[in-house]
Amino acid sequence: MTVAELPLADTLARPLRDLRISVTDRCQFRCTYCMPRDIFGRDFAFLPRADLLTFEELARLGRVFADLGVRRLRLTGGEPLLRRDLERLVAMLAGIDGVEDIALTTNGALLAGKAAALAAAGLRRVTVSLDSLDDKVFMALNDAGYPAARVLEAIAAAAAAGLGPVKVNMVVRRGVNERSILPMAAHFRGSGHVLRFIEYMDVGTTNGWRLDDVVPAAEIIALIGGHWPLDPVPPSHPGEVASRYRYRDGAGEIGVIASVTRPFCRGCTRARLSAEGLLYTCLFAGTGHDLRGPLRGGASDQALRELVTAIWTRRADRYSELRTRATGRTQKVEMSHIGG
Ligand code: SAM
Repeated sequence: MTVAELPLADTLARPLRDLRISVTDRCQFRCTYCMPRDIFGRDFAFLPRADLLTFEELARLGRVFADLGVRRLRLTGGEPLLRRDLERLVAMLAGIDGVEDIALTTNGALLAGKAAALAAAGLRRVTVSLDSLDDKVFMALNDAGYPAARVLEAIAAAAAAGLGPVKVNMVVRRGVNERSILPMAAHFRGSGHVLRFIEYMDVGTTNGWRLDDVVPAAEIIALIGGHWPLDPVPPSHPGEVASRYRYRDGAGEIGVIASVTRPFCRGCTRARLSAEGLLYTCLFAGTGHDLRGPLRGGASDQALRELVTAIWTRRADRYSELRTRATGRTQKVEMSHIGG
């Protein structure tokens, strides 16, 4: 039996299928719920370049993970398009046996100029973050003076380059952008893009999270369904994070990611690799497992496979379920590997 045929499963019988790769911890935006400027300011110590995994190291790990059953890769950050020549990494990952899908999560700022090269390199899909169409709201949220129109241009460029249907992520925060829900739904209905509403998550002490700030997914669905009737749609693959709904009038679909009110730990098949090569088996895991040390220390592919196998087969994480049940709170997250 080859390694790829091994049914690698964790202690809750969850297979390893997805890998989210953070290629940088830096971002040009300072979204208040993610990288607030008072913490991620001028003096913040981002990773030195030498600490980041190189493209060659990432491609080698990509092969190791594909050997162990990973089929879907997602590039994220930080802002992944800040990593120069990212299309070169995409091409390297696209050539790996077993990899069926490569996606990218981005704020869109550099996407319009890169979409064609990324698609040519083998990128299949993009998710673009956009929290409001109202510039007053959006600029207050991204805290970088970035207008919504530029993100819309990036979405159009991505679709034109063949990276559609584009998924659009909107994090909803009570009293901040909840009034943007209906305008966003109206804008993306019938566009061919898939708008997804994300419940605002607790990422530790940095964003001052309170349960009252969360607009539950059920409320979002009821609000939109009250204007345009919706029907639930089955997941497109096991472990899908978004619950899907289709407009009854045929104007496409939306999704909700109910990480807080309906945690989906039971179906979680995702591992996360941080920019400096720490492997996290959960978004909320407090500590990662160092893969860069062994990689740079001369470990063989077999040794790396054994290391990842040992980490995954011991995995028991279901933080969101347990924490949410106990307190309504989750816990500290390394924002650089939140993915999306
Ligand atoms: N820079 C890229 C971007 O903007 O999409 C990729 C990284 S970003 C951390 C990935 C996704 O996580 C974005 O869609 C973002 O809105 C979402 N996100 C960040 N902080 C969040 C929070 N506290 N709760 C829910 N989603 C969050």
